[in-house]
Amino acid sequence: MIAKNVDAKAGDRKAVKTPQLLRGFKDILPGEEPYWNAVEDAARNIATSYSFGRLRLPILEQTSLFERSIGKATDVVEKEMYTFVDPSNTRVTLRPEATAGAARAYIEHGMVNKTQPVKMWYFEPMFRHDRPQAGRYRQFYQFGLEAIGSSDPILDAQMILMTHRFFKGLGVEVKFLLNSIGTEESRREYIMELVSYFKQFRKRLSEVDKKRLTKNPLRLLDSKEEGMDELRDGAPQILDWLDEDSKQHFMKVLEYLDEAEVPYELNPYLVRGLDYYTKTVFEVVEITDDAERAQNSLGGGGRYDTLIELLGGREDTPAIGIALGVERVIMAMKNQGVEFSKEREVDVFFCQLGDASRKKGLIVFEEFRKAGVSIAEAFGKGALKGQLEMADKQKAKIALILGQKEVLDGTIIIRDMESGAQEIVNIDKVVAIVKRQLEMMG
Ligand code: AMP
Repeated sequence: MIAKNVDAKAGDRKAVKTPQLLRGFKDILPGEEPYWNAVEDAARNIATSYSFGRLRLPILEQTSLFERSIGKATDVVEKEMYTFVDPSNTRVTLRPEATAGAARAYIEHGMVNKTQPVKMWYFEPMFRHDRPQAGRYRQFYQFGLEAIGSSDPILDAQMILMTHRFFKGLGVEVKFLLNSIGTEESRREYIMELVSYFKQFRKRLSEVDKKRLTKNPLRLLDSKEEGMDELRDGAPQILDWLDEDSKQHFMKVLEYLDEAEVPYELNPYLVRGLDYYTKTVFEVVEITDDAERAQNSLGGGGRYDTLIELLGGREDTPAIGIALGVERVIMAMKNQGVEFSKEREVDVFFCQLGDASRKKGLIVFEEFRKAGVSIAEAFGKGALKGQLEMADKQKAKIALILGQKEVLDGTIIIRDMESGAQEIVNIDKVVAIVKRQLEMMG
């Protein structure tokens, strides 16, 4: 639909087309802020308490970074990247995910010389030209953790545990789906076996799956095409083909998770969409009776033990990471009934009456702010009644009232919002008096 604005000045009802949001993009309006703040605060808290440092990567990278790390035959690289040639003739891409960038940064800044593993977190927008639907956007945020430079299975468990705690803190119950896809070598044999299994049923495969059979056979395991459930049941399972090291590694991860009582399920069909994964892979889903929601992946991750080397870094630099979709985390919070007050709550509300008191009010307001008191105002409002109603909505404990008379007298009224009691004080002392009163109110 084309929105029409009226050119009020000209008086004629000229239709003006307002440019609209791009498909798959969305505005995050101030009303959503409590959720976004809660998620970002929880992310920062969990990351910093486990000594992860914040990584802020550029949004734009060389296209080859993603082609080499995510893999050319993946959905992301084949169909979903925002790629273009920039004015200096370089092929560039809006990042579809951040692990490749984190790996590049690790190599480029010589982080291999730091204490290993190097632990980093991010909270940034990603871009994928995906088919938009509920919970799937073309710009979406991810909160992610990366630990580069250690193969210890305790890191796999710790990252899962951190994610579990993160969700718990936000009031969302989750569980983990786990699998191990082994090393590249052990996978090679398994893939041959998998291909020969599915080849028997070639005729029954959809066009998409036929393509996967030649280009990316592992993805047949998590194919959503019709009839695949049945075929998959008879397919060889990757866990049976794991090399000894991957098997031991996976057992250790499970042991640690049992110890920490993190809920998980083994899922032999979980392979993840991107090529760089090795050994442990996992996804996070909501614990819910709603079947559709239970399938909705809130995040996922795994080991990427060969990515650093693949991008030209030091051989044998194992790593692990996880990325959570922030919009999906917020959807889950809403689904599970986590609520926030729409109004910002404050301790003090400043009410003014008339122009002179508004002018003086600007300064008084700033003094409260500088003193660290949470204060709100409505300079755009005229009547006292409306301002006091706002004070009430924002749950202010104290309202300050400044009228023309008070400005002339150098005073201001302090009103206790609960009892309605009012007192007049010297305006130069009001900050100190209010601070004391707030302390006493607790
Ligand atoms: P991935 O990087 O594909 O493993 O995705 C990790 C998480 O990011 C997913 O589990 C989703 O929660 C989120 N995610 C991925 N793609 C999208 C999208 N197009 N829109 C919203 N969230 C997404």
